Amino acid sequence: MNMQLIKSLKDLPAEENLFPGTPTCAGCGGLLSLRHCLKALGKKTVIVNAAGCFTLLSVYPFTPFQNSWLYTAMACAPAGAQGIRDALDILIKKGRLDPEEDLKVVVLTGDGVAYDMGIASTSGAMHRNLDFYYICSDNEAYGNTGFQSSGATPFASKTGTTPIGKISPTGALLPKKDLFEIWRSHKPPYLATISPAHPVDLINKFKKAEQYKGPKLFINLSPCPPGWTTDPSHSARLAKLAVDTGIWALKEAIYGEVTHTIIPRKFKPVEDYLKEQGRFSHLFKPVRQESILKSIQTTVDQYWNEVLGNRNSLCNS
Ligand code: SF4
Repeated sequence: MNMQLIKSLKDLPAEENLFPGTPTCAGCGGLLSLRHCLKALGKKTVIVNAAGCFTLLSVYPFTPFQNSWLYTAMACAPAGAQGIRDALDILIKKGRLDPEEDLKVVVLTGDGVAYDMGIASTSGAMHRNLDFYYICSDNEAYGNTGFQSSGATPFASKTGTTPIGKISPTGALLPKKDLFEIWRSHKPPYLATISPAHPVDLINKFKKAEQYKGPKLFINLSPCPPGWTTDPSHSARLAKLAVDTGIWALKEAIYGEVTHTIIPRKFKPVEDYLKEQGRFSHLFKPVRQESILKSIQTTVDQYWNEVLGNRNSLCNS
């Protein structure tokens, strides 16, 4: 097993397992990361794709994948993964499959499945210690059906079901669920958050995860140009801003022990990230909603104060 971590972009694997020309939106942050995830996972991988944006990737008879691909309904991708894992194990046990030809089983979902509809079957798979990877492309709403709010939608985001009007000038009223902590409570071997702006960190997390048998989670914050109302060419920059402002913490947990893998030296104000996106434009005009902006910044500061110890001001604006 090769656990040699990479140091820079020039060390990224040259192998491509996801080819261009897919029907997903230009600038999809989920697709940017998926390309790197599949470089790390390699060709001996089978993908179980719960219904969502990435269903668009394989439209018969075309596919951008080098890997096998199974489509499932939203809630049952872990059940599909269990069936494939069991079949591979039985074939290996019966001597009908060389262990060298074994496949990694990877569930691919969006946040609607990961945070909401599929959480029960995923919890069951974790309880059974199913040996699988789970990649959640988190664009913080139901992307391909009109950007309706999901359990991943952050406070104050405008979505198809949290529109801005006289009655509700705020947008989403509930905070984003903490999927990382929901998974961590099951004590799986490996969990991580990833970003398309940090491919070296992403690849190294897959290298570390490969050592462990059992459930392995990767949550990717996925800039979504049509839903976030942003320019497709800004997706990587926005993903970087999410990390630089501290609103998206890059971390991992090995058997529950959390480590932050990238900590900004100087945190940028969260406002820098919010003001770039149409889904938060109501916080800045026609009138600036100071109390909401302050409460978002306070939530981020509280998180990092707990991680780094109390500091009066983390934001170096
Ligand atoms: S709707 Fe958003 S998440 Fe879905 S494919 Fe388009 S950019 Fe990607």
